[in-house]
Amino acid sequence: MTATLRAIQADITTLDVDAIVNAANSSLLGGGGVDGAIHRAAGPELLAECKTLYGCKTGDAKATRGYRLPARYVIHTVGPVWHGGNAGEPGLLASCYRRSVELAAGLGAKSMAFPAISTGVYGYPKEPAARIAVFTVRNAVQLQGILEEVIFCCFSNADLVIYKAILNESA
Ligand code: ADP
Repeated sequence: MTATLRAIQADITTLDVDAIVNAANSSLLGGGGVDGAIHRAAGPELLAECKTLYGCKTGDAKATRGYRLPARYVIHTVGPVWHGGNAGEPGLLASCYRRSVELAAGLGAKSMAFPAISTGVYGYPKEPAARIAVFTVRNAVQLQGILEEVIFCCFSNADLVIYKAILNESA
């Protein structure tokens, strides 16, 4: 079975999917951007569980419950900071997507949603980041065979245009 991959424009904290992915920092103790939004919406229990995880390495992911979010789980992944592209950023970004799919599938998630990891404060250029997201997720969900729907949750319309173009050209 092949999973459906699609892009929408939304606030990821509102999505009723089995798992949402958080673009966290390596402390897992909260930050700005999508991380701050997820912690605000999930409530203080999320930070309490994150404190038990002792951080996360760049390119890896760790799961928690979703608490007050509609989503059952939050997969916290740590994207690379963009240093110009020759510091292993593409491989680390791909690893975030792959590890997040693996964790979600391991939890039995049938649906999950990703933000555009690393493309905010971490400065990864949006178009190449979206390409890595789409290709890595497509391969990873095929290998897992559990997920039925993956949403690329774009915060801006400009991001949505980029993702839609890549999904169409590679469909
Ligand atoms: P990073 O530090 O990994 O760059 P950011 O949170 O700064 O993480 O940005 C990652 C992406 O998440 C950006 O494209 C940003 O526009 C987007 N974003 C911010 N808030 C939300 C939200 N509530 N829902 C979905 N995406 C969001």
